[in-house]
Amino acid sequence: MKTEIASLGEFGLIDRLTRDFTAKNPSTVLGPGDDAAVVDAGDKYLLITTELLLEGIHFDLVYTPLTHLGYKTVVAGISDIYAMNGSPKQLTVAVGVSAKFSVEMLEDLYKGVRIACDQYGVDLVGGDTSASLTGLAIGVTAVGEADKDKIVYRSGAGVHDLICVTGDLGAAYMGLKLLEREKIALRGTENPQPQFKGYEYILQRQLKPEARRDVIESLAELKLVPTAMMDITDGLASEILHICKASRKGARIYLNRLPIAKETFAMAEEMHIDPVVAALNGGEDYELVFTVPLDKREEAMNIPGVDIIGHITEESKGAALTTPDGQEIALQAPGWPRAEI
Ligand SMILES: [Mg+2]
Repeated sequence: MKTEIASLGEFGLIDRLTRDFTAKNPSTVLGPGDDAAVVDAGDKYLLITTELLLEGIHFDLVYTPLTHLGYKTVVAGISDIYAMNGSPKQLTVAVGVSAKFSVEMLEDLYKGVRIACDQYGVDLVGGDTSASLTGLAIGVTAVGEADKDKIVYRSGAGVHDLICVTGDLGAAYMGLKLLEREKIALRGTENPQPQFKGYEYILQRQLKPEARRDVIESLAELKLVPTAMMDITDGLASEILHICKASRKGARIYLNRLPIAKETFAMAEEMHIDPVVAALNGGEDYELVFTVPLDKREEAMNIPGVDIIGHITEESKGAALTTPDGQEIALQAPGWPRAEI
């Protein structure tokens, strides 16, 4: 019997593939199911996470500069380390390359990797290269560490905890929509000159995202350890559902508290897209969503760029978005292929 991958949905696929694995080594603290795996390394925990980026699925080389792609690859890897309240330290990068690639093109890709490694203080320590029949494939494995008493899982959210998000949401998605629009509009043009003036913010959010090391450092300075945390790569709705599932809780987030940049609103209006949908299901924001106990409200609000958007509830209440007129809309995750193990 063949089961279509899409029929399982995001959570279903992960569960199905990993359910028969059991840890054999006492040093394996946590296997699949969080932003990173956790290994006991003595004084500290070691964090390990892998991302796979495929041409045509995760990026389009028509409008993605290779240097940007290299940078984004690193950010995608280390963002999951920060999401555990850890510090990224090392990285390996593996690439599958088709015949259309030159050495210079790969150098551009690795230049982006190097700039990001310098920016975040991470060392490239290995990798692999192989010929590929179709397109560019990039695999990145990030290794980091966390203090044992500071590590944050998805599973620790408590009833009444406040839900906090960093930065703003949906901009990367609108940047993608703009790039896709220009690609179609300029198809077949001799010397394409896309008009990107005024759209710099959403383009930067799509092409050169940043991981929120600053927020992790602020949390450390405040000695504030979130009860649950993850990074926002598949869209806020999906991430809230992950935290709810892992913590066996429900959640209420408030539509009018979602942080959405004015540039995101403007582009959404231009393209007749609901900016709330971009914020909830757009993905690739590389922001953090975390929960803190109610009495940590002041501290959380003092971190630059952090907004409180809702609270954790009993599991039976489910996860929903509350509109200003009091309607509750159940949160839904986007489907395959954006599943993250
Ligand atoms: Mg993640």
